[in-house]
Formats: sequence, structure tokens, C-alpha cells
Amino acid sequence: MNVEPRLNDIISALRGAAHRVTAAKRAVASVLVERSDHSTADEITRAVQRLRPEVSPSTVYRILEEFETLQLVVHAHVGHGATVYHLAGTVHGHLVCTNCGSTIEIPARHFDLLSGDLMKTYGFTLDRHHVAIAGLCADCAGDAATR
Ligand SMILES: [Zn+2]
Ligand SMILES: [Zn+2]
Ligand SMILES: [Zn+2]
Repeated sequence: MNVEPRLNDIISALRGAAHRVTAAKRAVASVLVERSDHSTADEITRAVQRLRPEVSPSTVYRILEEFETLQLVVHAHVGHGATVYHLAGTVHGHLVCTNCGSTIEIPARHFDLLSGDLMKTYGFTLDRHHVAIAGLCADCAGDAATR
């Protein structure tokens, strides 16, 4: 899948997999479609509760896991912070600044060379998205250099 699923795609994927379509799932799906950025489960829960105050955080977690099983959603770990989620579809990598915590989304092609080398040498398949690469962003690196 190269295109991010939209709300209707998510609903039909649920139906196709014979999963129940609940109001809570609709709410989580529409929040994910609306938020194109990387969101923590807490952020998603807060947005869902604006639509459906009765949906509990644990329900949101369960739904996110279900969506991941159906490959509608992917998660990544950026820095020491919480896991972030977004719709599946675009393959990219993440850089995270260990000083200010900002994250930068980068095209997956930056990993092509490394990915090819790791495969050739170790037979290892790189997952470009799952874990962020840590370092210093340009601003923080600049500050460190002038200190
Ligand atoms: Zn993970
Ligand atoms: Zn920084
Ligand atoms: Zn991502």
C-alpha cells in the first residue's frame, strides 16, 4: 500500500477482515485521517474523546493494535518518549534530536545504501521506519559549536 488509507478505506478494511465497525473505531479512524503527523496514543485519545467522550484510553489502545494488525497503522519510537502512530502507507525514516526532542521525517531513500550493505553483509533487513535515528538537529549542533 503506497497511499495512506482514508476513512472509507479503513472502514472497508475492517469489514473485509470481518471485524466489527464500532463508533469508537470510526472515531479513532477519523482522528488518524485528520492528523497527518505522528501522534502518541494519548494525543489520539484526547482527540477521540472530543468526538466521543465515552471512549476510554484502553479502548483506543486496543483499536490502534487492531488497526496495526490489519496494517492500516504503523508505530515508531522516537527518542525516549512515547510510541507514535500514524496511518500506514508512506515509507520514511525519522531523525530525532536528543537535545530539543524535535523529529524530522526523511525520505526512505536515505537508507538505501545502508540497507543494501546490511543485507549483503549480514542478510539483515533494515526496518527504516520503526526506530528513529538519534543525533543533534542543525539548531542544537550550531549552539554546541558556538559554546
Ligand atoms: Zn515498536
Ligand atoms: Zn535540537
Ligand atoms: Zn513515521
